[in-house]
Formats: sequence, structure tokens, C-alpha cells
Amino acid sequence: MTVLVLGDQLNAHVGPLADRPDDPVLLIEAADLARRLPYHPHKLTLVFSAMRHFRDRLRESGRTVEYRQVERFADGIEAHLDAHPGDDLVVMRPPSDRAGERLRALVERYGGQLTVVENELFLCSPEQFDGWAGERSSYRHEDFYRFMRRETGYLMDGSQPVGGEYNYDDQNRETPPEGYVPPDPPTFEPDAITRDVRSRVAETFDGGYEEPPYGGAWADPGPFRWPVTREQALSVLEAFVTDRLEEFGPYQDALVADEWALHHSLLSPAINLGLIHPRTAIERVIEAYHERDVPLNSVEGFVRQVLGWREFMRHVYRREMPELAGANQLEQTEPLPPFFWTGETDMACLADVIDGVRTRGYSHHIERLMILSNFATLLGVEPQQLNRWFHAAYVDAYHWVTTPNVVGMGTFGTDALSTKPYVSSANYVDKMSDYCSDCPYYKTKTTGEGACPFNALYWDFLDRNAEHLADNHRMGLVYNHLENKDDGEREAIRERAEALRERAQRSEL
Ligand code: FAD
Repeated sequence: MTVLVLGDQLNAHVGPLADRPDDPVLLIEAADLARRLPYHPHKLTLVFSAMRHFRDRLRESGRTVEYRQVERFADGIEAHLDAHPGDDLVVMRPPSDRAGERLRALVERYGGQLTVVENELFLCSPEQFDGWAGERSSYRHEDFYRFMRRETGYLMDGSQPVGGEYNYDDQNRETPPEGYVPPDPPTFEPDAITRDVRSRVAETFDGGYEEPPYGGAWADPGPFRWPVTREQALSVLEAFVTDRLEEFGPYQDALVADEWALHHSLLSPAINLGLIHPRTAIERVIEAYHERDVPLNSVEGFVRQVLGWREFMRHVYRREMPELAGANQLEQTEPLPPFFWTGETDMACLADVIDGVRTRGYSHHIERLMILSNFATLLGVEPQQLNRWFHAAYVDAYHWVTTPNVVGMGTFGTDALSTKPYVSSANYVDKMSDYCSDCPYYKTKTTGEGACPFNALYWDFLDRNAEHLADNHRMGLVYNHLENKDDGEREAIRERAEALRERAQRSEL
């Protein structure tokens, strides 16, 4: 039997790789997968370099590894089965919708068999989640998270949560003082393998696939910096636990201009590739809590993200696909503005965040939610267009994780996983960030030249979607504010919003 290892399953400690130590391994580096979207070059470099390092590590440990570099993934399967007719393969179930079934059909087409086993790179099995969720089709994260705390015993004191509460999010909304300098994020010099992959990515994919419509958006990204081996990923975890964990909680929702990492762990690229298991990250953070005086709100905040949100998203996706990917309950139809690709906007918040994405294929959670998704939702962008952009632009992006985050949480394309849209005007962006002071737009103005676009777009969004949202009891207060605006003001807001939508498409915001 041969263990087929997919590019996001680079972990020798779980699944068939661990259970079948004497069986040969097949890895396929396929160009067609990299051409599906205009991926950020750092994403392609990350995945291919991590695969090649993983191959070498397995070989060093004495395993037989067949590494096939091919144009089409199917070519790799065909070549393997030509060399080993009728072979039995085994693979962990990929989290993408129906990918296991597609893989099985592909292997059978070339005369082999494929056994698809559970993906052990997650903490919650499908049976566990389905047992918790039952027949429901709208899901509440907090309930699931509490269930997972009890199931795993993480941060539990018998049957009670450590500290008496399950969730300390109300302590996690601070903004750093002026001039605050967060610890330097870890970075890794590209070695020979990564340099080689970078050249291949530049030669093979630059312009060789669907070019972003606005002229080589990723043509000149900054230096590649992400961990490509398990050792490097573990050192990111150690750097997080040592230097960043204390303030992770308080500054989790903060935004600071030019500070792209703040106290975030930067672990998602490595966890999503399998380089470290989510269990390893959680247990190391809990260990630090027992070793030294780390605030519980920071430790719990991190555990909630990995044990709660990450697992929750994976299973909501599993259950709600394929409808989830196309969901658009607010019937938003606006195209994604070109500046998401080019970064050409005067709005200080959007310019800074998009510049970061262009430079390194990453922005932290609240930038994704409060700046990028919020703005796109207010503008009326079709969720699918935003999802495609996130999937292409980020080093940690895979369909299973962007889709629920963007279509569900970010744009309220469905109410399967949140009860109201995550939208705000400039007021909240200003409260949580330092962007507005250096922005040419006025945060307190709603209409008229120079007014911050978030404001008119916010009221216009509420107005346009009143039929859908006004009865939502969590939105009663904002709809009261809207009702208090007179007809003239509401008309001026509509006109301003319409003009902003046009300007956004012309890159004149
Ligand atoms: P930290 O802030 O340090 O959090 C720790 C870990 O928690 C992360 O590494 C991640 O593994 C996990 N996590 C936290 N929130 C989520 C979540 N909502 N969904 C899944 N995992 C979570 N995450 C991705 O991994 N890939 C994506 O493509 C992605 N796209 C997103 C798009 C939008 C619109 C939004 C709102 C969120 C998205 N997220 C995505 C979730 C989250 O923003 C990232 O996981 C996080 O920013 C990664 O940075 P970090 O490792 O420094 O995270």
C-alpha cells in the first residue's frame, strides 16, 4: 500500500503516515492546482517548498518517497499507477468539498484503489460534530466551543471552566498606547530549496495563468518569510509563547497602522499545511499558562480560536457545502473593486491592510473582518468575488477555511453561522485603530466631499437591506438611528453611496 500525502497534510505523526511506517509515500507537486486562481506567489512558494522539505525529511528518516513534479495532478496519479499497476493507496480525507470522492474516482480511472480515511489534522471528528449539531443548519460558535472544551478537557477544572468562565472576550478589546512597539515577528531566510521553488514559481506561474485583471497584482511582493518545515513552525510557536502570548488577548481586536502582526501567533500558514498540529499549539499555550503568569484571557482567547473557530469553520463548511459557496442572501452584486488587487486607494486603513497582503500574503483577523470584509459588504460586493480574492491572496487560504469565513462571517451571505452582519461605520474603525488620524477622509462626516466612505456606505447598506435586517432584534438600535434621519439626509446618503460605488470601480477612492 502507498500513502498518498497531499500538500496540506505534511505531518508524519498522524494518520496513515504514522500508522504505516514501512509503506512508501507518494507526493505530487502539480502545476494545474497552482493555476486554478491567481495565487499570491508566496502561497505557492510556501506550499511547494514545504512539500519538498517534507519529502527530504521523510527520506532522511529512511522512508521511500516518490515525489512527482507534474503538469496535472492526474498525470502524477497516472505515472504512479503505470509504475505500480493496480496499487492500493490510502489518503487522509481532504477538507475541500467532495475532494475525497474526486480523488478516489481519479485513482480508479487509472486502475488503482484509494481508501480515504479520517483527516487527523483536526481536533473534532465529523461524528463528534454531527452528534453535537444534530439536524440543525444554523450554528452558534459559543455552544460548539463549550462542547469542545468539555470534550477535550482543555482549560477545564473538572466539569467547570478554569477561572469560572468559558469566554473572556470582554477583556480582549484594548488598543495599544500611542507609540507602542510590538515584538518583531519571526522570519525565515529562504534556503536553497525555497530559493529554487521561488524561481520556479516566478518562471512558471508569472503570467502563465489567469493574470489578475489589473496587471500583475502580485508582481513585486516583499521577501518570502514563512516557515516551511516543522522545526521552523515550532519556532514560530515558541516565539509566540515567549514574546507575544501575554498581550494576545487584550490586543486581539486592535488595529495599528504599519504593525501587521501585533501579538497574533502567525501560525495559520503552518497549521493549515499540517506542519504543526492544532493540538500541539493549544497544549503548548496551556503549558505556558501553568508554567508562568500568563493572563487567562490571552490563553483562553487563543484556545478559543484554534479549538473553537477553526474546527467550527471546517465542519460548518463540510455540512453546508455546496450551497455555502454560492450563498448570497442579501443579493449583493457589486464587482470587487480593482484596488483590492492593486492597493490604489487613499483610504488609510484599506491602503495599509492591502499593502500588507500584497507584501506578505497575510493580514490579521480583525483587518480581514473589520476593514476588508466590512468595506466590501457595505459596498455591496458579491460574496463569491470577495471569497475568490481572499482565497488567491492569502498564504493560509484554502477553500474550506475562506468560504465560511468570507461568505458566512465576513459578508453575511448566509445566516448559518452568525445572526447579524459584521458591519460598522468609521466610528468603530476609529475606536479600534489609529488609521483615521492620518487619513485624508473625515471620519465624522457622512456626506459631502472628503467624508469617510465607510459612513455613507454603512447607512446606505442598512437602508438597502432594511427588509432583510430591520426586524433583527440585534439591529434594532441602528435602525432606530436610521429612522431618525430625515428624507433629505437619507437621499444624500444614497447619492453619496452611489457615487462611492462608481469611484471604487474606477480606483478613485
Ligand atoms: P491568530 O489570531 O494568532 O489566531 C490563532 C489561530 O486560530 C489561527 O492561526 C487559526 O488557526 C485559528 N483561527 C482563528 N480564527 C479562525 C477562523 N475564523 N477560522 C479558522 N481558523 C481560525 N484563516 C485561515 O486559516 N485561512 C483563511 O483563508 C482565512 N480567511 C479569513 C477570511 C476572513 C474574511 C476572516 C474574517 C477570517 C479568515 N481566517 C482565515 C481566520 C483568521 O483571520 C486567520 O486564521 C488568522 O488571522 C490567522 O492569523 P494568525 O495565525 O496570526 O491567527
